[in-house]
Amino acid sequence: MTVAGRFAPSPSGDLHVGNLRTALLAWLFARAGGRDFLIRMEDLDRVKAGAAQRQLADLAALGLDWSPPVVTQSERLSVYAAVVEELAAAGETFECFCTRREIQDAPSAPHAPPGAYPGTCRDLTHAERAERRRHRPAAIRLRARTRTFTVHDVLHGEYRGDVDDFVLLRGDGTPAYNLAVVVDDAAFDIDQVVRGDDLLSSAPRQAYLAQRLGHPVPEYAHVPMVLNDKGIRLSKRDGAITLAQLAEHGYTAPQVLGMMAVSLGLAEPDEPVTASELLRRFDPAALPRTPWTFVGPR
Ligand code: GLU
Repeated sequence: MTVAGRFAPSPSGDLHVGNLRTALLAWLFARAGGRDFLIRMEDLDRVKAGAAQRQLADLAALGLDWSPPVVTQSERLSVYAAVVEELAAAGETFECFCTRREIQDAPSAPHAPPGAYPGTCRDLTHAERAERRRHRPAAIRLRARTRTFTVHDVLHGEYRGDVDDFVLLRGDGTPAYNLAVVVDDAAFDIDQVVRGDDLLSSAPRQAYLAQRLGHPVPEYAHVPMVLNDKGIRLSKRDGAITLAQLAEHGYTAPQVLGMMAVSLGLAEPDEPVTASELLRRFDPAALPRTPWTFVGPR
């Protein structure tokens, strides 16, 4: 079996230096471990026309390569639905009719972590569910049998995080991010998940779900974010941060690769490098553990 690493962008806009650096790291981790590398478009939420194609072109311009096909989540809705149906048939899920507001205002269950689902709809009777369905479509939640789960992360070590009755299918029938990620990582033999450390807290839920579904739990590496000069995660307002914008200021894709390589301790300033050269130099143990501040041209 060929195992793989992956990069899973949301095609909601162009990739910026932060996303590109995460992609580079995911590729380096995968290739350094002799893995295949896959791209998955997580397009169940906001999608911008043409963004997926531009994202792929930008990754290729940096010298990253991957095995086709690019997986597109919106083409896999029946797969996610089948997984939830199976869990539901086994009594592992429940219908939830709560609004966000109701969840916020409900008294939390004793010993439950802050923000955890308070359990309101967990034990509704058949009649109560029938009545509620007349007013609002149900979201489907997993019946969690634990409150915490521990994952191993290459950069963060043992990380224990909260698990609650999280949503698998939203009220409008859209698969939740946590479900789609777990189903897809397992379906494509992803045994290593490298992504931004803003997602570290979602790893315990995902690993727990993987285990409940009988899938192996992948190895995680949650990598530091890229910040602007105010110490905040990069955003559209931060001047030139996409490859296209940087090109307008005279930076070629290999030069941007070079800047990212410097930030990772893999190259000297202004040294011309290629992705394959960085792969030869890559040592996960020597990776900087702190965020990179990127101040782009304005
Ligand atoms: N699609 C998510 C994002 O762009 C990444 C999900 C993942 O890597 O698990 O933030």
